[in-house]
Amino acid sequence: MISFELTSEQKDLQLKFRLLARERLRPDSLLLDKNPPGPIDKNLLLFIAEEKLNSFLIPEEYGGHLLDRVTLSLVMEELGYGCAGLASIYGATAHAVSVLMIGGAPEQKGAFLPLLLDPAGEVASYVITEEKGGSDTTSFDTTARLEGDHYVLNGSKGPIINAGNAALTIVWASSDKAKGRAGIDAFIVPRDTPGMSFGPFDDKPGLRCAPTARLFFNDAAVPASNLIGLPGSGYLLIMQTLDIGRAMVGAACVGIARAALEEATDFAKDRVIKNRPIFDNQGIGFMLAELATELDAARLLVWRACRLMDLNEDYTTQSSMANLFASEVAARTTNECIQILGQRGVIHPSFMSKYQRDAQILRVVEGTSQIQKMIIASQL
Ligand SMILES: Cc1cc2nc3c(=O)[nH]c(=O)nc-3n(C[C@H](O)[C@H](O)[C@H](O)COP(=O)(O)OP(=O)(O)OC[C@H]3O[C@@H](n4cnc5c(N)ncnc54)[C@H](O)[C@@H]3O)c2cc1C
Repeated sequence: MISFELTSEQKDLQLKFRLLARERLRPDSLLLDKNPPGPIDKNLLLFIAEEKLNSFLIPEEYGGHLLDRVTLSLVMEELGYGCAGLASIYGATAHAVSVLMIGGAPEQKGAFLPLLLDPAGEVASYVITEEKGGSDTTSFDTTARLEGDHYVLNGSKGPIINAGNAALTIVWASSDKAKGRAGIDAFIVPRDTPGMSFGPFDDKPGLRCAPTARLFFNDAAVPASNLIGLPGSGYLLIMQTLDIGRAMVGAACVGIARAALEEATDFAKDRVIKNRPIFDNQGIGFMLAELATELDAARLLVWRACRLMDLNEDYTTQSSMANLFASEVAARTTNECIQILGQRGVIHPSFMSKYQRDAQILRVVEGTSQIQKMIIASQL
């Protein structure tokens, strides 16, 4: 059964992160947006540690305080509201953790999950995409060759969020190209593995404080015990974990859209032109009414997908729907709201311009809108 009512614990956590997003994340997000490409800002890492964000992903037996997916989506929405870059850093970490949670052996979980609880703040990377394109995850040019008790990785990947900063990096490679998707494996590559390096940080229009870079593997040897799951299970792990990550991206998009809508609504009520607030013109008021309705619909789609995850029911289509709708709503909302602000939307400093640039990128991450439509259509 799906409930629209949050528990008191959920409301408390939502309120806590709502205040943190407003007071701690949002003010700094514009400053971070101006920084040149570089590693994750120290204050963001501190925020992750102080607010115990990673513990929400990790079960108690490994030192965490695992949250259900609906509750996690509430936190993600607030992070998206305060700083979509941080939401993306955290989303990538959550994605990598979910691979270990689904496919990892207890020894692997015990060895790697506690690393993310370091008081200095740690992150993780999931490494699927290659130069030839992220939409095709059925074959990889990056290879893994079994040599004795090690796999030797060769190839390059990117763009990868948290590349170069990650305590835990999960890399997909082809161990047997002849087998196609049945020859794909996922590996845990520890930080500082010889042969693993990363390229310059990408200069992106949005999500600027979420560093991305290419990762290179040049005879990078990882212990055979770092293979996740049975040989050949890597493709299934991609599908299972993208399904989870997509709803999380959707939650962050709801946060961006809400931030944009709040600012544009306040502005429209304040801005008087020819003796009346522009909000009272139906061209503006109705536009905001439609966006508010879409925002609520996007949130409900995210909650539905997350609730199905918590119930262990099939959520593939619902997660793609949540991702598709929420990311398109975020793009549309920020686009319309920047127009409502007039000159203030396009001259720095402008939160709205940042929201718009962030939202556009989230139409691509964890599968583009076109790929979500393909997944949904395949189930019709
Ligand atoms: C900021 C950022 C961070 C990222 N972080 C990570 C990360 O941490 N880890 C990771 O593994 N990847 C990451 N990615 C990669 C991301 O997942 C891919 O960009 C995405 O999957 C799309 O792949 P592509 O960009 O190579 O586009 P392509 O696959 O080359 O697609 C190009 C265009 O073709 C469209 N298209 C493709 N197939 C079809 C079709 N059948 N029908 C219609 N249209 C189609 C796509 O929608 C897209 O518009 C990141 C990307 C960005 C931009």
